[in-house]
Amino acid sequence: MSTRTVSPPAPRRHNGGMEARVKSSVAPGWSPAARAPSLLTPAGLELILGCMFSGKTTELLRRIRAAEPGAVGVYKHSIDDRYRRDAVVAHTFDAVPAQPVDGAETLRQRILTNRERLIAVDEAHFFDDALVDVCGRLSHQGYALVLTALDRDSWGRPFPLIERLRTISTRVTVVHAICARCGALADRTQRTTPIIDDYMVGGPESYEPRCAACWRPPPANAGD
Ligand SMILES: [Zn+2]
Repeated sequence: MSTRTVSPPAPRRHNGGMEARVKSSVAPGWSPAARAPSLLTPAGLELILGCMFSGKTTELLRRIRAAEPGAVGVYKHSIDDRYRRDAVVAHTFDAVPAQPVDGAETLRQRILTNRERLIAVDEAHFFDDALVDVCGRLSHQGYALVLTALDRDSWGRPFPLIERLRTISTRVTVVHAICARCGALADRTQRTTPIIDDYMVGGPESYEPRCAACWRPPPANAGD
């Protein structure tokens, strides 16, 4: 009978030198039989926040690709049809397939049906208020959720939904763009065409990143 010690298997995918971080993040009692949903994303709710063009989706794609294949569910709101309805697409055109859903309750049902353990949701500000309850329940059930969202609307106001998600989040990552006017770090989105509704669906043809000094508030109400 062999007495050779069996080591945990190496991560299945090469993560660009992340092996040391992976090993140090393994919780006591971890065993190969208890497969982690993602070796880099613990259970709970993480928010990736910033203005448009700050790299939120690129960061989300990085997390998705670092996770174990098959354990990740990628979702987006169906209202977000800027590039493709069935994919999460960064402004760099980097993309992964995604499941469009029409609201928080549909998202919850789809997650419980599919049973992925790492849930990636792009552009969470498009969702309804029930997203807070859905994320709270799922994170308590052991899901790892990573959501990107704008943290301000076109008028520079915080999104109430995102503020509420912050209160139940376990981690918040804030990313910045480069101001299109002066080159400083940008944390605001400047609408460059007339605003016709409250939804911030659009791309470089309608928005650009600005720092606080260069940003100018648009007219008070949509349609003005
Ligand atoms: Zn600026």
